Amino acid sequence: MRIFHFDDSTQPAIPADELYMREALKLAESAFREDEVPIGAIIVSQGKIIGKGYNLTERLNDVTAHAEMQAFTAASYFLGGKYLKDCTLYVTVEPCVMCAGASYWTQISKVVYGAKDEKRGASKHGNLYHPKTEVQGGVLENECSELVRSFFRNKR
Ligand SMILES: [Zn+2]
Repeated sequence: MRIFHFDDSTQPAIPADELYMREALKLAESAFREDEVPIGAIIVSQGKIIGKGYNLTERLNDVTAHAEMQAFTAASYFLGGKYLKDCTLYVTVEPCVMCAGASYWTQISKVVYGAKDEKRGASKHGNLYHPKTEVQGGVLENECSELVRSFFRNKR
C-alpha cells in the first residue's frame, strides 16, 4: 500500500484578517436581526478575541452605543486596563469620528475595517487615530457594505 502525503501548505490559507472580519460580520448580522444598523466589531489580542460588540443605539436609546464602543469597553474590562496595546479592532464599517476618537484614547495598535463610510467615516476629517495606530480598510469590503445596503433597502 502506498501512502500519499498531502501537504496542506499547498492550500491557500485564509488570511487572518478575513477570518476575524467574518467574526465581526456575524455580530453585524445579529444587529441586523435586531433592527439595528448592522455594524459589528471585535478586538483581537494575540490571536484571541477579547472584546465584541454590535450597534445597539436603538435598543439602548444611546447614540454612542456604536459597535466599536461596546468592543472597546469589553476589551478594556478583559485586560483590566484602558490601553489596548497589541490589540487590533476589526469593524465591518469604517469608524466614525466618535469611534476613531475613542480609539485614540485606547492607543490601539491597529484598526481594520471592511466598508468605507463615505458620509460619516473618520478618514474624511484627517487622521484622528493615535500615532501608534495602523489603519487598514477594505477587508471583505463587499460583504460588509452589502449588509448595510440591504438594511437600508428594507427600510424604504
Ligand atoms: Zn462610531
